[in-house]
Amino acid sequence: MNNTIARYQHFIDGRFADPDSGKWFDSYNPYKGEVWAHIAEGNAADVDRAVRAAHDAFSHGPWAALTASQRGALLRKLGALVEREADRLAEVEVRDNGKLLAEMAGQLKYVPQWFYYYGGLADKIEGAVIPIDKKGYFNFTRHEPLGVVAAITPWNSPLMLTAWKIAPALAAGCTVVLKPSEFTSASTLEFVKLFEEAGFPPGVVNVVTGFGKDVGAALVEHPLVRKVTFTGSDATGRRVNEQAARHFKRVSLELGGKSPNIVFDDANLEDAVNGAISGIFAATGQTCIAGSRLLLHERIHDEFLDKLLQVAKTARMGDPMNLDTQVGPVTTRPQYEKVLNYIDIARNEGATLMLGGQPAQRPECGNGWFVEPTIFADVNNRMRIAQEEVFGPVLAVIKFKDEDDAVAIANDSNFGLGAGVWTRDIGQAFRMSERIQSGTVWVNTYRAVSYMSPFGGYKHSGLGRENGIDAIREYVQTKSVWINTGAATANPFVMR
Ligand code: NAD
Repeated sequence: MNNTIARYQHFIDGRFADPDSGKWFDSYNPYKGEVWAHIAEGNAADVDRAVRAAHDAFSHGPWAALTASQRGALLRKLGALVEREADRLAEVEVRDNGKLLAEMAGQLKYVPQWFYYYGGLADKIEGAVIPIDKKGYFNFTRHEPLGVVAAITPWNSPLMLTAWKIAPALAAGCTVVLKPSEFTSASTLEFVKLFEEAGFPPGVVNVVTGFGKDVGAALVEHPLVRKVTFTGSDATGRRVNEQAARHFKRVSLELGGKSPNIVFDDANLEDAVNGAISGIFAATGQTCIAGSRLLLHERIHDEFLDKLLQVAKTARMGDPMNLDTQVGPVTTRPQYEKVLNYIDIARNEGATLMLGGQPAQRPECGNGWFVEPTIFADVNNRMRIAQEEVFGPVLAVIKFKDEDDAVAIANDSNFGLGAGVWTRDIGQAFRMSERIQSGTVWVNTYRAVSYMSPFGGYKHSGLGRENGIDAIREYVQTKSVWINTGAATANPFVMR
């Protein structure tokens, strides 16, 4: 990539297309704080074109005529192409979101598994024969694709989260309009170049870039969109849900978190320190499952905090493209300001600053939006720093007395996305996994995810599930078919 500024158009009906508005907006490299690409600024007219293309592809044409096995084969071919292009796509993502190349390359090498797995599931979406209780009838079910799906994604893991949505949607037979985050649109537009080579007909997958209030809202509002699958903040998720409800659209929401990472006094402390560090400082804390509340048993609290500080202090910050870097910049300028604001809030609430608490002033951080890894101790769970998602490298440490206390603190949150439990007591591990209100519980590990295992939130962390067989159900509706095999019509005026 040279220094000229790249330009990215929409992708509609198999072709790249200029925006109706004639306007373009800037995409920044967060490490350099510089514009590196211009992105098409979409509006409702672009959304309408894309949705109609997706609707035509869904209703008639080659996609609608494919068998489920043929759809599966296309998905597997797409997976192989993503595998071939993984390194290049990862570099584009890093340029846009500033996350470590080491992490994004790992993600992109894993993304093909979603296409292989759902490619394999495409022809296993089976209905059932119901052993119906009425004589003379045969009853069976069909799981039919919902239609056009609007997939709206955030900036932290653009292509991985896109794969979570479109792989099951396409396996089910839906067609898709993607709306990537305005901060990280480029990788999605590089990715869709692979669809033609994989053999997908035009219109099956479309991309409209732009701002949430214009493109996102128009997609949720469009009458031909039957399903909205959204990943982003809880505030936007609420708006999307309310808007979609007016049109009785199906919705899946993957939202934020304030996940507790809970260390008991019998835990292997070295492992738990690594789990706590990766929970909050990996990806600069910009993951929905960040373990942003560290709950420490009072007996190991001081010793653990010491060990944690020793490791956190050694974090190497700098260029995310450098494979030695451990903590990169915050992705966007507003997010950088938000993180610094939460640090002030925590200070004013009376939490004790143990580490960081300011922008990084290290030569290797250049002009980027870097915040020092930050740890607050003496946090009370009712403080805002313990209740609100920061989405940055800021850890809130909370002391607890016993298992009941840990459960009460962990569940005292509007969120319920992930939770970590560190203990050598197998009974305690099982009890905690049952008592914690969250979509995922990790025992003696943190952050593991797989295409095979359902992922989603309790409470304000979301609706529906991604990954695993469960995700297919998000993109189909069930039809019940009754065949009269010889039942006599009794009195037609009386319903039985
Ligand atoms: P965001 O809510 O600001 O934006 C997400 C997407 O929604 C973007 O594409 C945006 O343009 C779009 N959008 C904004 N307003 C809209 C509207 N009115 N209608 C429709 N779409 C609209 O979130 P973000 O800042 O990009 O991402 C960070 C958030 O995402 C965090 O809260 C994080 O926890 C969450 N997240 C959740 C998961 C998960 O799986 N649960 C994964 C990653 C990130």
